[in-house]
Amino acid sequence: MATMSTAVSSAFHLLAKPTGAVCNLDCKYCFFLSKESLYPGSRFRMEDSLLETYIRQLLEAHGRTAEVIVAWQGGEPTLMGLDFFKRSVELAEKYKKPGQRLLHTMQTNGTKLDDEWCAFFKEHNFLIGLSVDGPREIHDTYRVNKGGAGSFDQVMQGWRLLAKHNVDFNILCTVHAANQNRPLEIYRFFRDELGAQYIQFIPIVERATAQFLPLANIGWSERPGGQRPLYTQAGHLVTERSVDGEQYGRFLCAIFDEWIQRDVGQVFVQLFDATLGAHVGQYSLCIFAPTCGNALALEHNGDLYACDHYVEPDYLLGNIHETHMLDLVNSAKQRQFGLDKQQTLPRYCQECTVRFACNGGCPRNRFIRTPDGEDGLNYLCPGYKLFFNHVDRPMKMMAGLLRQGRYADEIMQLYQPDVEPPTAVKVGRNDPCPCGSGKKFKNCHGRPAV
Ligand code: SF4
Ligand code: SF4
Repeated sequence: MATMSTAVSSAFHLLAKPTGAVCNLDCKYCFFLSKESLYPGSRFRMEDSLLETYIRQLLEAHGRTAEVIVAWQGGEPTLMGLDFFKRSVELAEKYKKPGQRLLHTMQTNGTKLDDEWCAFFKEHNFLIGLSVDGPREIHDTYRVNKGGAGSFDQVMQGWRLLAKHNVDFNILCTVHAANQNRPLEIYRFFRDELGAQYIQFIPIVERATAQFLPLANIGWSERPGGQRPLYTQAGHLVTERSVDGEQYGRFLCAIFDEWIQRDVGQVFVQLFDATLGAHVGQYSLCIFAPTCGNALALEHNGDLYACDHYVEPDYLLGNIHETHMLDLVNSAKQRQFGLDKQQTLPRYCQECTVRFACNGGCPRNRFIRTPDGEDGLNYLCPGYKLFFNHVDRPMKMMAGLLRQGRYADEIMQLYQPDVEPPTAVKVGRNDPCPCGSGKKFKNCHGRPAV
């Protein structure tokens, strides 16, 4: 049995993949599917002994942390069957320390859910991340089953069951070539049709070399003979399914403009929350934090990797059967992985006015050149620049409201992006500006007061 060092780190998050990359769907952009080839001959099922080791170490590693997240992801974790997760809850209760609270989460495509699953989720307060890319026609473009048919109907059945059992859920929407031009249609679908309160927009960036690109464009499905092309972080090109860097920014701006006028405090868009966090000096998303390395991935056999996006041999830290996860999390290799994010930041980013919010984004997408020819700029930079500049003023205003102990949703009266002059402003011309600058409103964010 692996024993842990005395140092206790609570500041890490771990995504466990009990079926590895195995999934019942065959989403065309899902390069994670190709990771199956890292474990030839495996059954891709986490064994009970590993499940127990994992849960025990996770709770030990979090010491006195009040809330410990037990997070399941894939592949498709529901393929393990419900008994596996019943056992995980049982083990978590067995090993939790005095004062620890458990939060169970699962990211799923929703196609395998039934009443029994959803009753279980509700009973144990699971937070479910449900992958949906938009209304049927958009969703079915890339999110297909093994036979190539769209998965929308099955996913909606899963959503209906989650709603019926009153299970907390987030919508996880990938943004790609097929939906990047339809931001409001997608956002309104989630908000109005699905009643979603928590939404994440995740950019699809499938990187490829010139040589590999034609193969990558076909997709990551299994090929005749059981072969798949293996995705690696190499090349300066992207597949035709990938989101356009600048359009990703426009997509976010369009949704932001609707959200800021009517949905603040009702609908939580992860990236907007993260941006507001950056404006008050708190980073809730690793991709925008100055350093990273605190979001690791555990494979079905106990192999621990530096990050969910770096499940590759060079980023393997070790196996938790042999070394306690805390020693792997605290290893020099992992610390350097996290510091590399900051230490490899190009000068162009260091001098960028929105660096405080962006910090160069996730290293895995840093594969283009800056205008002055330096390597390591984020492929999504044009979109990030657009978005972070677009939201700068309202974000500063919301941050100011929070600093004053007021609610961020007051921004809906204070800020109207497309309406001049604003129709309802609570702050008088001579009142302090809610952005916290200390100036009078009329001299700062001084739109005429009515
Ligand atoms: S590599 Fe990217 S996704 Fe992974 S921990 Fe760092 S910022 Fe987060
Ligand atoms: S917006 Fe672009 S230049 Fe600025 S920090 Fe982000 S990636 Fe770097």
